[in-house]
Amino acid sequence: MTVSDAMIDPASTLKAVLAKLPTGLRIGSSARDASDGATLPVENPATTQVLARVADATVDDALAAVALGVSTQDGWGRTAARERSDILLRASQMLLERADQFATLMTAEMGKPLAEASGEVAYAAELLRWFSEQAAHISGTVGTTADGRTQMLVSRRPVGPCLLITPWNFPLAMGARKVGPAVAAGCTMVFKPAPQTPLTSLAFADLLTEAGLPDGVLSVLTTSRAEQIVDPMIDTAHLRKLSFTGSTEVGRLLIAATSRTVMRTSMELGGNAPFIVFEDADLDVAVDAAMAAKMRNMGEACTAANRILVQRAVAEDFTTALAARMEALQVGNGMDPGVDVGPLIDRPSLDKVENLCADAVAQGARIVGSGKVPGGPGYFCAPRVLTDVRPDSEIQRVEIFGPIAAVTTFDDEAEALHMANATEWGLVGYVMTEGLHRALRVRDALEVGMVGINTGIVSNPSAPFGGIKQSGLGREAGAVGIEEYLEYQYAAIPIR
Ligand code: NAP
Repeated sequence: MTVSDAMIDPASTLKAVLAKLPTGLRIGSSARDASDGATLPVENPATTQVLARVADATVDDALAAVALGVSTQDGWGRTAARERSDILLRASQMLLERADQFATLMTAEMGKPLAEASGEVAYAAELLRWFSEQAAHISGTVGTTADGRTQMLVSRRPVGPCLLITPWNFPLAMGARKVGPAVAAGCTMVFKPAPQTPLTSLAFADLLTEAGLPDGVLSVLTTSRAEQIVDPMIDTAHLRKLSFTGSTEVGRLLIAATSRTVMRTSMELGGNAPFIVFEDADLDVAVDAAMAAKMRNMGEACTAANRILVQRAVAEDFTTALAARMEALQVGNGMDPGVDVGPLIDRPSLDKVENLCADAVAQGARIVGSGKVPGGPGYFCAPRVLTDVRPDSEIQRVEIFGPIAAVTTFDDEAEALHMANATEWGLVGYVMTEGLHRALRVRDALEVGMVGINTGIVSNPSAPFGGIKQSGLGREAGAVGIEEYLEYQYAAIPIR
């Protein structure tokens, strides 16, 4: 089930959601204040109004959450797989039943339009359902060593207490992509969401409790003090795994920090996706795919098409069509009907995108299409198409994270591939071509973890999501997603 924005009355839903908003830390059975009583504000980026204040966790709170997760691990790890599977299935169904509430809350604290927020709820629910199915299929193997002398008993066990850290751009889905497999595998969790979007995570934790997740299995630390609280948690040496989604810059710091206690890590980091349009592409398909890959989540996605590379022969037609689509987008408060593009998350993000755009133009890029932003408060950014973007300009070297389509041309396949791979990132790439052999050749040559062929959307709970190079380590979802939360144990039994 998905919920269209037409079915939601956002004002009354938001009022009802805010009236029973969870704002305390989740450590154990009840919500609690931060140990020093501090709170942090949660802003609506469309209005700049403060929606709520939530507890701002301290180091003491963080260490209490770790201690709880450690003491709960043994019992939780031994629960029947079917019990964990049923919790996830119930949570998936409850999420769908409450889709309008979760979508409204996400739109309020993050800005994405309601229809996109509803899509994220459906994606998160499917992730939970996927991992409920996986929970029941964890198994080991029995075999004989090659020398024929020893029987091997290989079993799987939960890796242990996990630290989960997520960004603000997909407040529900990024949590579900970690909590789902951790619950399925039998790991306890300390979950630190981003400070811009803590409300969705707290509501998600409450839903999981209602679905039957025992107290102490999942703690949620809302905080503005990540830099102070995360290192002490790592240094307890009691956490066995860190699963992080966020920027490559912070990922590098956390890889270094977790080396001190040799924790396992899963790193879902930044991207700089090439979107390649060959002259044999179906241009209607290519424009649709570019809109999806560029404009999903206002461009605030790790999978966003960051560098649109178009073969010279079709560059003008493609760019003209793309500009018309971008200009027609309605920018505004994501709660309002008909809005396609919400605000960016905060003032620094808006300033960054505008500066990247201005810098590209100063270096010779041309704006060939621009949408309009509403007046008044809110971090609104006009969707734009830039052409003649220099491949070495800043806007091509960093994640834009905004609704700016930066187009560069190329002459042949070799040049396109050279440009596409000339980055330290390797999360996703997109290829637009009607040629089967070209599609397969380019897919093979792209240095990325995921490829969209004639599509701008790759995320799917059934598929392994993740990148290579400096876009990350490990995969989330797909058949391998649960592996990140499981250890092997092998027992040797001599054959007599
Ligand atoms: P970010 O600045 O790296 O922050 C991500 C999370 O890490 C937040 O919860 C943040 O909390 C925390 N954090 C920051 N510094 C930390 C530190 N020194 N120690 C411990 N935790 C720390 O990223 P963001 O701006 O929220 O999100 C955007 C980034 O996420 C982009 O690069 C995007 O590509 C990436 N992303 C990747 C994927 C993927 O699956 N590959 C998916 C979505 C997003 P504070 O803000 O309080 O510091």
